[in-house]
Amino acid sequence: MISVTKAINIIGQQVKPLPSEAIPLGDSIRRILAEDIVADTDLPPFDRSQMDGYAVVAADTVDCPVDLNIVGESAAGRGWRKKMRRGEAIRIMTGAPVPKGADAVQKIELTRESGEALRILEPTEPGRFIVKRGSEIKKGKAVVNAGEQISENMVAALAAFGYFTVKVARSPKIAIIGTGSEIVEIDKKPSRDQIRNSNSIMLDVLCRKWGAAPVILPNVRDEISDLKSRIAIAARSSDMIVLTGGVSVGKYDHTKTALSELGAEIFFEKVRLKPGKPAVFARLADTLVFGLPGNPVSAAVTFHLFVRQAILLAQRAVKPDMPQGFAVASVPVKGTKERDVYLPAKLSTTADGRLIAEPRRFSGSSDFVGFARADALIVVPRGTNIAAGEAAKIVYL
Ligand code: AMP
Ligand code: MG
Repeated sequence: MISVTKAINIIGQQVKPLPSEAIPLGDSIRRILAEDIVADTDLPPFDRSQMDGYAVVAADTVDCPVDLNIVGESAAGRGWRKKMRRGEAIRIMTGAPVPKGADAVQKIELTRESGEALRILEPTEPGRFIVKRGSEIKKGKAVVNAGEQISENMVAALAAFGYFTVKVARSPKIAIIGTGSEIVEIDKKPSRDQIRNSNSIMLDVLCRKWGAAPVILPNVRDEISDLKSRIAIAARSSDMIVLTGGVSVGKYDHTKTALSELGAEIFFEKVRLKPGKPAVFARLADTLVFGLPGNPVSAAVTFHLFVRQAILLAQRAVKPDMPQGFAVASVPVKGTKERDVYLPAKLSTTADGRLIAEPRRFSGSSDFVGFARADALIVVPRGTNIAAGEAAKIVYL
């Protein structure tokens, strides 16, 4: 049995980085950038008014009320190009360039306009309501770096600098295979002794979430020859294969045998982990193979710890690890002697600012109903327990 850290290191050594491709910005969410995003202009590109009002010289407004001459107008997309002088004002709209000579904007609510005359009712000060050129970012600076995952919140910044396509790492192609003679597709009514294949679709959405391109292959029965041929075919067109089921020591657990007989190199087959001890990691020719336990919670936990890392590393992500933190356990959490426990938990906050982790009702690694509302895993290192109220390490799902 090897530690979780060792297992992750082994995976890291085997993953080969994928080449990059250009894709439309709107399709790039969750993909990993393969280029730095660089500002091609200052932002804002000119001193910009934050208000509808009047561009003025602040020194003219010290003794209010004061009357100024309106000599022009600066609208968004149509600035006023001459130089404004003392005693003058320019009507200005939100987003419009502040004319030369002006050093402040007074908002419309604090003014009265009649004809060419403008009365300023309250003083303003230099810089007021002006967003200075380049104050958000300077031309040539990187806004987002290669290796970062593109989020919805980044899209506006990328668009503003003309990245209508972006260079990202190609998505790893992943074949997902559910195994087990008891497994039926999810649109079927299971007969006696059968269960629906909830793993494959779960892994499919998880793979997509981390930027991979998965396909779900038909379920395979616990027949070694079927399993071998399915794995061999899948390996030809996939960067990775994720199997579930058949990795324990039962009479019909054939995954490891199938892999060995196909000539795969098996890197590990037992991890000091609960749930997820029998997780297998292997390589068949150039394809990485993950054999995850069939129990849905074990499959989810081992996906997050191992497959997710591999997917992100293949895309050259700078932060492939699960984000970590600390939270206060709401109840005592028992560890085990031999294995690190990763217990599904729901996070919440208290009014005094503490983060609380409440273990999900958890009746074992098959309890996907309990897992359904988990958003983190509480880590209980082997040989330790966590008392109620004690801070514990968590990893975010
Ligand atoms: P195994 O890892 O094959 O020993 O399976 C462990 C448990 O997980 C058994 O109760 C299986 O019925 C269940 N299981 C295996 N594969 C799946 C699947 N694709 N979806 C849901 N449950 C599964
Ligand atoms: Mg099975």
